Amino acid sequence: MSHDLACRCGAVRGTVERDPRANHIVCYCADCQDYARVLGRADVLDERGGSEIVQTLPSFVTITQGADRLACLRMTPKGPLRWYAACCNTPIGNTALIPQIAFVGLVAACLTGRPVAETFGPVTMWGFTAGAKGEPKPPETSFLRIMARIVPRTLKARFDGSYRRTPFFDVASGQPVAAPRTVTPDERAQAQAQAN
Ligand SMILES: [Zn+2]
Ligand SMILES: [Zn+2]
Repeated sequence: MSHDLACRCGAVRGTVERDPRANHIVCYCADCQDYARVLGRADVLDERGGSEIVQTLPSFVTITQGADRLACLRMTPKGPLRWYAACCNTPIGNTALIPQIAFVGLVAACLTGRPVAETFGPVTMWGFTAGAKGEPKPPETSFLRIMARIVPRTLKARFDGSYRRTPFFDVASGQPVAAPRTVTPDERAQAQAQAN
């Protein structure tokens, strides 16, 4: 069983394998919020500013159509690669900077066809909750608990070679399939101003 992946306009399509060990998380960090805003897609944030994300392995993700539309941003010079569909600015997900670190946090906005929880289980984690609007804040999931579920899988993918199956990198060269662009402070400030 797999879950459909599609951008809003339908030019980018794919599938994500069912993954009972995925982390289904809502992230309230400023970078996730500003990322949606820079894309002009604040509509993907929930009412508290949260981004619903499924953290899984890139080898589970297959792009079947429109792979040439994939583009990527970085919110800061040290930040992860934040992938989106350039046709309609639908966020797709975040990856590390190199394919050897097999990790993707898929933004639920691109997971279509049926409720995300049916494929990946309910949301059980909440990150950077200080960034959530309103009180009380959601219960914070410790970073260690989140990482404890990711790191062993990423290491296994490194050793068994499955990190090589990824739609986000040309593994031979180690380069992302689209050149990352770092968002300028001005661009970010403008996006924030529009949000307020
Ligand atoms: Zn699109
Ligand atoms: Zn975040």
